[in-house]
Amino acid sequence: ATPTALMVGTGRGAQLGILIKGPEVLESTRRVDTVVLDKTGTVTTGRMSLVAVHSPGADETDVLRLAGALEHASEHPIARAVADAALAELGTLPTPEDFTAVPGLGVQGVVEGHAVLVGRPRLMTDWSLPLPAPLARTLDAAEATGRTAVLVAWDGEVRAVLEIADTVKETSPEAVRRLRALGLRPMLLTGDNEAVAHSVAREVGIASDDVIAEVLPQDKVDVVKRLQSQGRSVAMVGDGVNDAAALAQADLGLAMGTGTDAAIEAGDLTLVRGDLRAAADAVRLARRTLGTIR
Ligand code: ADP
Ligand code: MG
Repeated sequence: ATPTALMVGTGRGAQLGILIKGPEVLESTRRVDTVVLDKTGTVTTGRMSLVAVHSPGADETDVLRLAGALEHASEHPIARAVADAALAELGTLPTPEDFTAVPGLGVQGVVEGHAVLVGRPRLMTDWSLPLPAPLARTLDAAEATGRTAVLVAWDGEVRAVLEIADTVKETSPEAVRRLRALGLRPMLLTGDNEAVAHSVAREVGIASDDVIAEVLPQDKVDVVKRLQSQGRSVAMVGDGVNDAAALAQADLGLAMGTGTDAAIEAGDLTLVRGDLRAAADAVRLARRTLGTIR
């Protein structure tokens, strides 16, 4: 393509809400055949809310105070949902004496002298804490409905299940349809559990074989590498700090403009409005720009 054509393509991109880092990006955009979509914040709104607290053996106020205090120190969408609900209920929260975020698993720390964990079952097993049978059943039931369930433990005992709901963006099913119509293969990649991942995939029209769940943040990049080693030209769409390495590794990294700075810096393209349909627009634009004028 001529420099003029590339400039026109880039300008047209800006009108469509697509910021392109450089003219060479259009070529990799034209070539992609696989689109890996991060779930939380990319396919879903990422605005989560706490919809239920199950704590058969503990006082709900204690659960909210201890879990809320720890999550208040984290920036994860799940953490915000828990902290906001706790603040709304209790007005104030104690400041943790100690706090560590465990990427892709949860948070741990000390609140009011109690050693507190909030996160996935895997975080609990890492600390050798067994999951009581009634809570295991609650967890399974919550996940079966497509909700993210998070466990709360303190002083060596798992005491509660928090049910957190996220919603698929209204535009996501259409975006997936359009990507497929362009001949691309959409896949879903998430750190969340299998049940939630498959429920979101069903809702947006991604085949269950193309769902990759329970992937730790540092392993997302390996998923991209594996697809590349199978000869695929991979686009990755993401919004989180967790996605930055995978965005950089992908043949084309698309960052949600509504996402983190780390993702935007790692990407080749920014979808300014956080609308996944712009990913399909970008591919069409690249094909048109590089296809017609050559
Ligand atoms: P995604 O890949 O969908 O963006 P993440 O990798 O950020 O998701 O998180 C994966 C899972 O780890 C979450 O679904 C949740 O179960 C758990 N998790 C991560 N951070 C937290 C937190 N601050 N509080 C509770 N659970 C968390
Ligand atoms: Mg995300």
